[in-house]
Amino acid sequence: MPKIHELSNLLANQIAAGEVIERPASVVKELAENAIDAQATQVQIVLENAGQDLIRVIDNGQGINRDDIPLAFVRHATSKIQNRQDLFKVMSLGFRGEALPSIAAVSDTTLTSQEKGSANGRQYEIKGGEVVEDQPSTGRIGTVVSVRSLFYNTPARLKYLKRPQTEMAKVTDVVNRLALGYPEISFQLDQDGRTVFKTAGNGNLQQVLANIYGRQAAQKMVPVAGESEHFKISGFLSLPELTRSSRDYLTVLVNHRFVKNFSVSNAIVQGYGSKLMVGRFPMGALNIELDPLLVDVNVHPQKSEIRLSSEGELTALIEKVVRARLAQENLIPDALENL
Ligand code: ADP
Ligand code: MG
Repeated sequence: MPKIHELSNLLANQIAAGEVIERPASVVKELAENAIDAQATQVQIVLENAGQDLIRVIDNGQGINRDDIPLAFVRHATSKIQNRQDLFKVMSLGFRGEALPSIAAVSDTTLTSQEKGSANGRQYEIKGGEVVEDQPSTGRIGTVVSVRSLFYNTPARLKYLKRPQTEMAKVTDVVNRLALGYPEISFQLDQDGRTVFKTAGNGNLQQVLANIYGRQAAQKMVPVAGESEHFKISGFLSLPELTRSSRDYLTVLVNHRFVKNFSVSNAIVQGYGSKLMVGRFPMGALNIELDPLLVDVNVHPQKSEIRLSSEGELTALIEKVVRARLAQENLIPDALENL
């Protein structure tokens, strides 16, 4: 007797959710990345009870065409890539078409969107993968996604969530890294009715670092910049007097995407040489720009790990630029007074 059968859509989406949607912070990341991909200049993130009661992301991006809204919740449906060639030069943060269907499979999700140039929009609610409401809406251009009852139908996931403070810290971390990658976008994070983080969106990276780590710390960071054949790097790194005992305060961005890449953060540390004590790490943010053909973001579903070609060229460049910048600092010890 045949034993193989196809999984239902809902079950397939819940399985996909297991990979991409681990906790409230993953929902925030996916929704805010969608807002960024939609060219939003303002992204507001609202959480109640650390996301257990509500996660809402409001953007002023280009919105979704009314007829496309149901498709946005279909797995592997995306507006961001078309073909194999596109996959190798992804510039958007998303491209898998998995986030919305995954989120909607494990929560009660309402999406309201109005496309630029359209007189009205559409409000669409999906609970546990089923459409429970679908009606026209009028309001503003852009998209609002509200996620309630996260993991209500996946008890194991729900149980695995940590204390609200811990979940909230993870959300804050996600929003901070996005803000560092996109200083020209204004991010706001509201927690239980209070604004706990806000960036100006004026393109000033050092100001975003000040928003996150405090003005005093940001004043001890200096600009670094340089380029080689395939790479262009720029950012702010702390002087050796300002260090931390973990790499968590050092944000590495590849084409604006926050990544965890040991060789890159190691190259930064190498650039400090003996100026850093063993086990200490600088603070700051470094953006690496390169041809998307040289980076494979498809290694990991959450896209936090990437594979780089010409990695040796990049680490050599970083080491050289950091070392030269710090040497310059020794020559003019008072240069920072003017920051
Ligand atoms: P992906 O981002 O990988 O394409 P998602 O499931 O996150 O997949 O989103 C599906 C599609 O819905 C996107 O490709 C995009 O066209 C649309 N979309 C989602 N969120 C937004 C938003 N905030 N603004 C505009 N379009 C959006
Ligand atoms: Mg997405």
